[in-house]
Amino acid sequence: MTAVVSAQKICKSFGSLDVLKGIDLEVHEREVLCLIGPSGSGKSTLLRCINHLEKIDAGRLYVDGVLVGYRQRGDKLHELREKEVALQRKDIGMVFQRFNLFPHMTALENVMEAPVQVRREPRSEVRQRALELLDRVGLADKAASYPAQLSGGQQQRVAIARALAMQPKLMLFDEPTSALDPELVGDVLGVMRQLAKDGMTMVVVTHEMQFAREVADKVLFMDGGVVVEAGPPDQVIGDPKHQRTKEFLARVL
Ligand code: ADP
Ligand code: MG
Repeated sequence: MTAVVSAQKICKSFGSLDVLKGIDLEVHEREVLCLIGPSGSGKSTLLRCINHLEKIDAGRLYVDGVLVGYRQRGDKLHELREKEVALQRKDIGMVFQRFNLFPHMTALENVMEAPVQVRREPRSEVRQRALELLDRVGLADKAASYPAQLSGGQQQRVAIARALAMQPKLMLFDEPTSALDPELVGDVLGVMRQLAKDGMTMVVVTHEMQFAREVADKVLFMDGGVVVEAGPPDQVIGDPKHQRTKEFLARVL
């Protein structure tokens, strides 16, 4: 079985700041990997590398068996151009902390935008799929609402539906509930939980330890640009071995 994401010793620096110092990880089809760790440990950078928004400096990164950002010819690696990188990115959906919906479009139009504009799919088909997706995230009745008329939690669920509209093989979430009022967090996590149940392959950066414990197949604790501890949630969250993991959990639990 090929991994959906396979990272081997990936490194990333910004100037003299080494942010990722040799990260290894593997995510298989239908698996949920939760990334936890203190602020500044490199979690967002790692997600951005997986989504080709950042270029790695060393190591190898494969998404769906394809080497990210490069084409291999014999022993030589050739850097891909931006257009080719965009093609590699098309099967990955990403949801950020801030729901960046288009403010001048309704929920339905937001969900329809990429398939219609980027993929040139027929409007009527996309519309049907978008309505189904809004229903799936519990917002069938909000199709005609504009972002400003929706709560943060509802906007975030539209953002999830919008990412799903491109029928991704992999979904990346970067602290999707961190910007939400506490009472709105549950609905968003509920949608993500259902998505995981339906078999979506997911990498989720989160501080929601209960969610990670219930939904993750694997948890990876990062600190200072390295993976300190990785394994099933009952092990990493329930029975951490490393002092740094224990200290972090004591702060967030
Ligand atoms: P986390 O998501 O775990 O909080 P980040 O990946 O956002 O951590 O950031 C890790 C480190 O990299 C931080 O010190 C941050 O300031 C730095 N960093 C992130 N992106 C950039 C960038 N584009 N340029 C310079 N430094 C960056
Ligand atoms: Mg971050």
